[in-house]
Amino acid sequence: MAWCRSRSCPCCRPARRVELSPASPPKALRAQLSPREVEERTGQIRLRVLARSKHITAAQFEAIADEDLALLFGLYDELFFQGGLRGALRGPLTLRLSKRMTRNGGKTILRRIGDEVSYEIVLSSTLLFQSFRDVERTIKVNGLICGDRLDALMRVFEHELVHLLEFIRWGASSCREAPFQRLAHDLFGHSDHFHQLVTQAERARVCHAIAVGDRVCFWLHDERLTGRVERITRRATVRVSADRKFYVPLRLLERAPRAVESN
Ligand SMILES: [Zn+2]
Repeated sequence: MAWCRSRSCPCCRPARRVELSPASPPKALRAQLSPREVEERTGQIRLRVLARSKHITAAQFEAIADEDLALLFGLYDELFFQGGLRGALRGPLTLRLSKRMTRNGGKTILRRIGDEVSYEIVLSSTLLFQSFRDVERTIKVNGLICGDRLDALMRVFEHELVHLLEFIRWGASSCREAPFQRLAHDLFGHSDHFHQLVTQAERARVCHAIAVGDRVCFWLHDERLTGRVERITRRATVRVSADRKFYVPLRLLERAPRAVESN
């Protein structure tokens, strides 16, 4: 799954990299770490998150809050950038989780209004919680196998940090391009720029045997309705007739029995 698909997402446009401040590029952009160094630093971050977070109290955590992203940012800044990342920002940074992002693992946005610059990193809590749940398969993020939900969270966050670094330095960023991929590899050992977190469409197929295009039934109060699945995000969009469609939780759907024709 690609990270960023939306046309409006800055990560998806070809990046016009123009160095913003050639005199003082952030230190982190010149870093190249050995695999062992990356492992040691990410191992430290993992331990400290588990020790300090109020919500992430286990590797397969069941709760997370925006403040945990602030905790992660502080730890990555300290251990990978010697505290230089926060200082290199040219404006405020917002860190938040989104339940509505059901395809992208995360996104990083650079906003410019006149001379004012701000950044936002958003991570999909929906995709994190759908992974390591009921679909059993190996989950890779950025080409690296994730053993648990905390691993996945950290790999997604690292990807977004690379976008942030590119935005700081170049004012543009694209994970489809070689400079991003080199930086992600040198800093965090990422070998690709895709995530394989479990999507709602995959859960629908594996756990409920339902896919887009299928005919399904569900109960609405005491009426049994039949329709066709048009889309699967957090819920399935089911078209019942030309002017009636419903957003139905997957667990309430059943496959409609096939119509049998006879002559
Ligand atoms: Zn990306």
